Amino acid sequence: MDHFAYRDGRLFAEDVDLGVIAEAVGTPVYVYATATLRRHYRVLADALAALEPTICYAVKANGNIGVIATLAREGAGADVVSGGELTTALAAGVPASRIVFSGVGKSADEMEQALRAGVLQINAESEPELELLDQVACRLGVRAPVALRVNPDVDAHTHDKISTGRREDKFGIEWTAAHRIYARAAALPGLDLVGVAVHIGSQLTDVSPFREAFRRVRDLVAMLRADGLPIRTLDLGGGLGIPYGNEGTAVPPPADYARAVVETVGDLGCRLIFEPGRMIVGNAGILLTRVLRIKEGSTRTFVVVDAGMNDLLRPALYGAWHEVVLVREAQPGGEVREVDIVGPICESSDAFGSGRKLPAVADGDLLAIRSAGAYGRAMASSYNARPLVPEVLVDGSAWAVVQERVSVEAMLASQRLPPWLGSDVAAVRVAPAIAGRRG
Ligand SMILES: *Cc1c(COP(=O)(O)O)cnc(C)c1O
Repeated sequence: MDHFAYRDGRLFAEDVDLGVIAEAVGTPVYVYATATLRRHYRVLADALAALEPTICYAVKANGNIGVIATLAREGAGADVVSGGELTTALAAGVPASRIVFSGVGKSADEMEQALRAGVLQINAESEPELELLDQVACRLGVRAPVALRVNPDVDAHTHDKISTGRREDKFGIEWTAAHRIYARAAALPGLDLVGVAVHIGSQLTDVSPFREAFRRVRDLVAMLRADGLPIRTLDLGGGLGIPYGNEGTAVPPPADYARAVVETVGDLGCRLIFEPGRMIVGNAGILLTRVLRIKEGSTRTFVVVDAGMNDLLRPALYGAWHEVVLVREAQPGGEVREVDIVGPICESSDAFGSGRKLPAVADGDLLAIRSAGAYGRAMASSYNARPLVPEVLVDGSAWAVVQERVSVEAMLASQRLPPWLGSDVAAVRVAPAIAGRRG
């Protein structure tokens, strides 16, 4: 149940006809359903309720301020991986006391920003990072609440590019070195070693790698406590997968995940932190795009749409599968064709699906690319000088633009000709008729 469903032959987001949004805002545009955001957050929170969890939504999955604020009202904290995400989460109303700062490459400035804001915890990933954090904290006269992200050397059995918990991945402190590094870090005056963190990857469709990783974390906690370190928090990361609609992706129910947590680390008496991203926002969003034209080749039929890989990178980056449906509901028994759905970008990987069975589509038809709420807009770029795609949040029959389309003029306004080439940028101003066409 993702709250994108047909009504009277039209695809709606909750109580809003997607055609209305396309007319008003233009395409391409991301549309998110508040009801789905809330539902997924509550399903997870309910499954974990007995553990009194701290759920820190992983902002990198979808950093829109309206999405973060919606989840913050539900009680979510935030997991951030940059100074920019920290600023956004605070602006969205997430209290600093519920923000975890993660990431493999924090700068000294970002550490200072996090400490000044008073975040719940900073997850460090290497010895040099711990040393730098210690220096920054000492300079500010505070003790940094820090957890070490360990790499449990567990294969998450997910896509290679989103696996993060194997020894050869760049993430976390190597399992075999964790004990020694904790002992060293405990001696640094600027650090308050509060916990252990782990995150083994994304789009996991099986709980057993979680179990394996959590068991190793449990062993580590026992060892650290025996050394006299009072480990108080366990950050178990994110990674729960979602169904994308292609065959073979069954995902574990949150209750199974909760059981794995209880049975492995439930009795340690630690505050448990979770960092779900995809499972909350993934199916809460679609990318709405318009068919520009149908291009008949001798062996394939291409449906050229106005969204490109710059707007939704996952298919090009991971070979990810997204369901594509027509906003105007197809007639049962109508003609179905096998088509390739492609974008306008000058890259062969700019495709949203090949050999897809679609009802007969015509120029101007609207298509919805489903399950695009996570790592969609967040990874968008302006490649091919295409303006960053806007976002709309729906709540019942209400809807609002929560991220405006960045205009070509705005993109140009921040560019400068170097003095030796003159200063007349006005000469390359976009004609209004062209600029206006994309909404
Ligand atoms: C990406 C990430 C998450 C969120 O992962 P999902 O698969 O979206 O749940 C959580 N924690 C860390 C440290 C991450 O890097």
